[in-house]
Amino acid sequence: MSAERTLVSDVGSILKVALPTPLQQIFDYRWQKKSVGITPSVGARVKVPFGRSTRIGVIVEVCQKSEVSAQRLKNVLEILDPGPLLDSEHLRILNWASDYYHHPLGEVIAATLPAWLRRGRPASLPMPRHLRLTDTGRRVDVTSLRQAPKQAAAISRLAACKEGSSRSELNLAGEAWGHTLRRLKEKGWIEEVDVELTSPSRQKTTPPCRQAPELEHSQRRVIEDISNDVDRFHPYLLHGVTGSGKTEVYLALIEQVLARGKQALVLIPEIGLTPQTVERFRTRFDVTVSVIHSGLSERERAGAWLMARDGRAKVVIGTRSAILVPLHSPGIFIVDEEHDTSYKQQDGFRYSARDLAVVRAREAQVPVVLGSATPSLDSLYNVEGGRYRQLGLPTRAGGAREPAIRVLDVRGRPFNAGLSSEVLDALEENLARKEQSLLFLNRRGYAPVLMCHQCGWVADCDRCDAHLVVHRARHRLKCHHCGHDRLLPSKCPDCEAKVSPRGVGTQRIAEVLADRFPQARIARLDRDSTRRKGELEAVLADIQSQRIDILVGTQMLAKGHHFPNLTFVSVLDADGGLFGADFRATERMAQLIVQVAGRAGRSERPGHVLIQTHHPDHPLLHELLEHGYPAFAAAALAERRAAGLPPYANIALLRAESTSLDQCFEFLNDARECTKMNGHGEVSILGPVSAPMERRAGRFRVQLLVLSHGRSVLQRFLKSWIEGVNRLKSARRVRWSIDVDPQDMI
Ligand code: ADP
Ligand code: ZN
Ligand code: ZN
Repeated sequence: MSAERTLVSDVGSILKVALPTPLQQIFDYRWQKKSVGITPSVGARVKVPFGRSTRIGVIVEVCQKSEVSAQRLKNVLEILDPGPLLDSEHLRILNWASDYYHHPLGEVIAATLPAWLRRGRPASLPMPRHLRLTDTGRRVDVTSLRQAPKQAAAISRLAACKEGSSRSELNLAGEAWGHTLRRLKEKGWIEEVDVELTSPSRQKTTPPCRQAPELEHSQRRVIEDISNDVDRFHPYLLHGVTGSGKTEVYLALIEQVLARGKQALVLIPEIGLTPQTVERFRTRFDVTVSVIHSGLSERERAGAWLMARDGRAKVVIGTRSAILVPLHSPGIFIVDEEHDTSYKQQDGFRYSARDLAVVRAREAQVPVVLGSATPSLDSLYNVEGGRYRQLGLPTRAGGAREPAIRVLDVRGRPFNAGLSSEVLDALEENLARKEQSLLFLNRRGYAPVLMCHQCGWVADCDRCDAHLVVHRARHRLKCHHCGHDRLLPSKCPDCEAKVSPRGVGTQRIAEVLADRFPQARIARLDRDSTRRKGELEAVLADIQSQRIDILVGTQMLAKGHHFPNLTFVSVLDADGGLFGADFRATERMAQLIVQVAGRAGRSERPGHVLIQTHHPDHPLLHELLEHGYPAFAAAALAERRAAGLPPYANIALLRAESTSLDQCFEFLNDARECTKMNGHGEVSILGPVSAPMERRAGRFRVQLLVLSHGRSVLQRFLKSWIEGVNRLKSARRVRWSIDVDPQDMI
């Protein structure tokens, strides 16, 4: 750093600007009154020269002094916001996150800003085009559209709001509706208009206020407990069995928050954010509900973000990234299915949305509710330590009973493509009763392996340490890790003998079932069957309206869906998570089993569940199935404690990736040497070792694990260590990253 200092007098100031660059650094720029009209404020965006181009950043400090010499100091090109776009509370949270996750503040800020604002577009302007009925459209008799149900649906939704609304607010976004809307426009029944979001005459999109059910005693108690003390920070873990009415509890709490003029932020797992869920929030309250998800257009996203920031949106619902949205007057933070792994960002800025929700609640001094039927061991540990308070909903709402779970020891039994005769019998009975069944298998595709019976050849990915998965319908072999995809061979490339698929995936199950039950209506729900927009919604709607008898799917099924007529569930392979390389594998498996089983019997008809396993005596599986999730969690926590693993320890991973394995090891060995110079006896370093999947997409992956018994000890260590790692020569030859509280060891 230069010893020279630049002092700027009353003709201007120094602006410290956070820019989206990988450098852990804030940049100084000069601002001169005469050159740029607007007065700079902390939290406003600026356009600045950077290298040979320009960038947009956010002012984090306005001062008079700089360590940069006057000659090297560049001028701000433009101040984009007349006032702060981000207030000081939000900047404090982003600063905290940047420190804690050791990620540059400029990139953290960029992650919170919608692309629209990141690109420097005005913060006051997003005027989304709204759809509304024309006068002719208003006179259309919907019942005459029986042949065109989608047109009828669109017309009824539009009829509910005079002023019109955006496509996504009307649930008319996406390709699935594009054709319908074009037809309606051609008929002259609908039109698109510019609507200023701030317009006070803006109407609700749906008829408001569907009544809440009469709450059960246990629901009321939970609500009272939380609403007793709403002006202070309190983290709650709401452990409610599946179907216990957690969402009703959230709704009641939000109602109180709204009555006090404050906002609520609700996080939902990626796959759980369905129109069904959003509808439940929209129809309950007479306020603007902003939904933030990846399907929004840039404009819509910016609009939703600004409405949340200005306090016009009273309820904000969204997936992981919604936790980064600023709020005007937060009153409560709610994280539904808090155990869900989609809350952890797996690349770039690797934050945990669940943990940030707690940080934001603390900053705002309001309650935060983490809800789940299968709480994470992390949160249970926080309950154990007195940091979170646990509240419970021990029974299902509305008189529904929890399903009876039976373990099926499938060792040595006849198996038809992964289906035991008990499961087939249960399916047959359920079909006869006209009730729905669900089969869960966490493996998409037709078969996980293609093999030659003559010579033992197996189809592997050239770029990953993984087998290629057979996708028979499309005649493809696909790598589920790097996306590599090629034609399905009919002969072994080594010996020319016939090759055959081994093992089962969801496609094969669906095929076997179609063969066995030709009259049954079978649907598949996995990433392959729902890749296109609207497909997931379509399948979910088919299940709701009982156009499907048997549903086969992956973990997409586990996420909070409510299928009233579903009475039989089978987990086809409970063994997948028992011997995984990741120490969290059993926790994940237990959560999946309970969540999937929880889809059964959620209404009047009782449900039953069959779990197929080759390891009925596995102690943790036994604990789960005999004594339930709390007993499992206690046993699993005891194991973690004995092994000194999280949550009883805090960990961070330094990951390296390169096309050269040696360079990865060289860098991580150097990084390990660095730890000695830092002289911290309080952390243990493990590795470097190859990641469980050593090669992925053509790159080798090696990691170094840092483990400590105190969060602050680990933080202090990481801070000085990463500075050292940054200076290593070998660091320039690999792609490296630090992951604090990693959720996946792969
Ligand atoms: P969870 O979020 O715990 O899975 P939900 O809130 O979705 O549970 O409730 C499950 C079902 O029970 C829903 O159909 C909901 O409408 C219904 N329900 C919730 N609370 C009550 C209640 N107090 N009385 C009757 N039905 C209820
Ligand atoms: Zn062969
Ligand atoms: Zn691959």
